[in-house]
Amino acid sequence: MTEQNITPNGATVPTFCKRCSTNSSVINLRTEHLCSDCFDKYVRSKCIKRMEAYRVRYNPPDTDTSPRRLLLPLSFGISSTTLLHLLNSQLQNQLARTTRTGFVLIVVHIDESAINPTVPLAEEGMRAVQEWFPDVGEYFIVRLEGIYGFSNAVKAFEMGVEEEERRGGGDWREKLKGLLGALPSPTSRMDLLQILRTRLITELARKYACEAVLWGDTTTRLAEKMLAETAKGRGFSVPWQTSDGDSPYGVKFLYPLRDLLKKELVVYVSLEVPTPLRPLCFGAAEEGEGKKKHAAVGKGITIDELMTQYFEGIEGQYPSIVANVVRTAGKLVTEGGVVRIGRCNICGLPRDGGGGELVLDAKTKLGESSSGEVNGNRSGGKKEGGDMCYGCARSVHGARPYEWPL
Ligand SMILES: [Zn+2]
Ligand SMILES: [Zn+2]
Repeated sequence: MTEQNITPNGATVPTFCKRCSTNSSVINLRTEHLCSDCFDKYVRSKCIKRMEAYRVRYNPPDTDTSPRRLLLPLSFGISSTTLLHLLNSQLQNQLARTTRTGFVLIVVHIDESAINPTVPLAEEGMRAVQEWFPDVGEYFIVRLEGIYGFSNAVKAFEMGVEEEERRGGGDWREKLKGLLGALPSPTSRMDLLQILRTRLITELARKYACEAVLWGDTTTRLAEKMLAETAKGRGFSVPWQTSDGDSPYGVKFLYPLRDLLKKELVVYVSLEVPTPLRPLCFGAAEEGEGKKKHAAVGKGITIDELMTQYFEGIEGQYPSIVANVVRTAGKLVTEGGVVRIGRCNICGLPRDGGGGELVLDAKTKLGESSSGEVNGNRSGGKKEGGDMCYGCARSVHGARPYEWPL
């Protein structure tokens, strides 16, 4: 896959790499054409720059012998698989240079087969990935419904412990289906699903004593998230959901791929680096197919899907717009000047109370609809259970009774 220029008489000539001037270009990176070797270096450098804090020299053996633990949620999509590959090379380099590593990975796949039967087979995928990257750390598969029994039951969902899985799993699966089925729209379901996923991952990070979660989000994905969260009424949460550093969940969030575009990673996974990663991206086909299907039908599309389409559509021609959205949101501050009035029971994010009566999210009551009727939810029917942000209140407004796991 080399890029070619078409001359006026119709002949094609390869474009050469701007950096080495020897190999032919495989990608036009914003303003320069790069060959696969130079592009590989470029991608690695972007990730390594974001992982500065986890270099070996900051972790001398005489002060602390246990490597720092980082949780990597792996969806088998293009981004998280690329992130795993890049961190694996970083660890290999650290070992080769110093015989030590600055960190160890806890790779977790959330199995969502309970709610989507078309997802890739978790165990098959995990086995293949583990064979490919055997030395990065530990691997776990956790079922999404495991969040219902979190404190004592997650152990039951680790790979290979199928007996225990059969005992508690069925009920939770039904509960999860009940919860998502009770929600009023596809947007609400996708929103709550995303929240459950994030909360389960942060619980797991704490359980496995990880100091940070390494998300695979690209610039494109971060821009999608910013606009989608804002459109869903959770604009106040953007700084926590998109910036590197402390999160409200007690673990750090890091986005090592935040300086790369999604379309760049799509090219990257088919390169020989040294072997294409594409066959390991078991979830990538699903990523694309679902979106195309919705786009064609134009109905039942969620806000999140709409934003994904929008930014994946413009990143080709206008990459700087995508990067700008992320840069602008990066200027929002999370601390100072805002009075906290507690956390949202659903998404777990702090709500601001700075605007008094005028702020929509300030005191939204859970379960109270405009007609005055009270939702029969166990978690929300009572007024004292009403700590919910505006975004979550909108998502569960009009829901049938359900059981919230957290
Ligand atoms: Zn080159
Ligand atoms: Zn919320």
